[in-house]
Amino acid sequence: MNENESNTSAVVHNIRAAKRAVSTVKTTLGPMGMDKMMVDGGGNVIVTNDGATILQQLDITHPAAKMVVEAANTQENMCYDGTTSTVVLAGELLGNSELLFNKGLHANIICRGYRKASRWATEHIANLSHPAKQKLAEVAKTSITGKALESSIEHVSELCVDAVVNSDGDYDRIRVLCQPGDSLDDSSCFNGVILHKEFMLPAMPLVPTGKALLINTGLSDNKTDDNVQLNLGSAAEYQQYKRQSSRDNWVEKAQSVIELLPDGGVLFVRDSVNEVAAATLARQGISVVQRIPESDMTALSKLLNTSVAHGAEDLVDPVDCDVECKTIGDMKYVVVKGDGEVTTLVLRGATQQTLDETERGFEDALGVVCLAYNSDKVVAGGGSSYLNAALYLRSRAAEAGGREQMAIDAFADALESIPATIAENAGHDPLDTILTLRNEHIAGNKSAGPDIENGGVCNMLDLDVYEPLSLVRQAIQSASEVTISILRIDDIIGKKTE
Ligand code: ADP
Ligand code: MG
Repeated sequence: MNENESNTSAVVHNIRAAKRAVSTVKTTLGPMGMDKMMVDGGGNVIVTNDGATILQQLDITHPAAKMVVEAANTQENMCYDGTTSTVVLAGELLGNSELLFNKGLHANIICRGYRKASRWATEHIANLSHPAKQKLAEVAKTSITGKALESSIEHVSELCVDAVVNSDGDYDRIRVLCQPGDSLDDSSCFNGVILHKEFMLPAMPLVPTGKALLINTGLSDNKTDDNVQLNLGSAAEYQQYKRQSSRDNWVEKAQSVIELLPDGGVLFVRDSVNEVAAATLARQGISVVQRIPESDMTALSKLLNTSVAHGAEDLVDPVDCDVECKTIGDMKYVVVKGDGEVTTLVLRGATQQTLDETERGFEDALGVVCLAYNSDKVVAGGGSSYLNAALYLRSRAAEAGGREQMAIDAFADALESIPATIAENAGHDPLDTILTLRNEHIAGNKSAGPDIENGGVCNMLDLDVYEPLSLVRQAIQSASEVTISILRIDDIIGKKTE
C-alpha cells in the first residue's frame, strides 16, 4: 500500500471495508439463510452456507476486512459453528460505531463501552443456560437446520450424538469419511478407523492376524545415502553400491518388523515401502498399508492405544487389532478395529460437491455437540439469548454513565441484529419481530425467538432450538474484540516489504 490514509477517515474506511465483507455472508444466517455459489478462475465451484468458508474463499485484500475473516476463523477453531453470527455481529458493531463517531464520540470511549458491554452480556447469558444433558440431539439439529444435511436431520443428529458419546466428547477421536454414492440416509457410524487405502500387494493376507505395528517413516531407500562422499571408479560400481546399500537397509528394516511379528500381522506406514521389502513381509504373513496421511496415523495410534515408532529401528511391541480389507462400490478400504474410542462417520451422498458441503455441516454439528457435551450448558437459540442480553445491557447502561452508555446502547442494538437477521432472511419483517420479541422478553419469556415458519415470535425451547452456551459467549467476544481492534486503528501506513 503506497498511500497514507489518515485519522478518522482511516477508521471509516476500515469500517466500510469490513462491512462490505460482512454483507456477503449476512443473507446466509439462520435456517432460511441462502447459500452462496463461489466460482474461481479455474471454474471450480463451491456451494456453501458456512460463513467461515465463504469468507475464506473470498478474495479479500483490505486489511480491516481480513481482521473480520480472522474473527470468523477464531470462532470456527474454538466453537466449530456460529461463524456467520460472529461476523454479522461484528458488522453491526462497526456500523453502529460509525454512527457514534458522527455524533462526536471518541474511538476510545466506544471501545471502553463495547468492552464493558461484552463482559456484561456474556455474564448475563450464563444465567440463561440449561443443562446440556438430554439436549445433545437438539443442539445437533439446531446446527444442521438450513444446511445441506437437513433432509436427513433425524438420522444425522443421531449419528452426531452417537459419535460424540462414543468418543467421550473428544473431537479429535471422531473421523469423517466421505463416500460418494447412495444417499445421506445411508450414512453410518463405525467404532474404529477406516482408511481409504488398500494393502500394498495382492499377495498380502486380506484378514491379517491380530497384531499391528505403526511406523512414522518408510521402508524404502535411505535418502541420506546420497549425502555420503564415496570414491567409486565406475558407474557400474556406483550401481552396485547403491543396490547393495539400500537393499541391506530394507532387508534390515523388514527383518526387524518380521522379528516383532513372527506370526504375521499388519504394518501401517506413514511413508512408502519398497516393493521388495513388501514382498518379503508378505511372505511372512504381514500385510502392509503405506502412505497413510498423518491424521489417519494419529487416529490409528489413538484407536490402538500405542505410539507410532519413528522408524523400523525403534519399534515398540506390537498391539492387538482387527484389520480387514473392504470394497464398497469401486473404492477399496482398510477397516481397523481396536480398543480405543475412535469413531468414524461414513458419509454418503450423491456428488462430491454436496458431499463437501455435507462434510462441513457435519463437522460443525459434531463440534457443537462436543462443546455442549463437555461444557454441559446450552441456551435457547434463534438469537433469543442475544436479545435478552440486549435488554439487560440497556437496563444497566446508565451505570456506566457519561458517553460510554451510548456505546453500551449501541452494543445492545447490535446484539438484536442476530434475531432480526434470522427473521429477515426467512422473509419476515425484522423490525416488527424485534419489537414483539422485546415485549415477550420483558414479560419474562426469556426463550422467545423469531418464528421462521409463520412469522412473529415463538418459544425456541418448544421448537427444541438449543445451542451451546460457549458458542454464543465466544461469538460475542470474538465480534467485540475484532471491532475494538479495528476502531483503535487511526492510520493505515504502507510498510516495507520484508
Ligand atoms: P452460524 O454460522 O452463525 O451458525 P447459521 O446460518 O448456522 O449461522 O444460523 C445459526 C442461527 O440460526 C443460530 O442463531 C440458531 O439458533 C438459529 N436457528 C437454528 N434453527 C432455528 C429455528 N428453527 N428457528 C429459529 N432460529 C434457528
Ligand atoms: Mg451454524
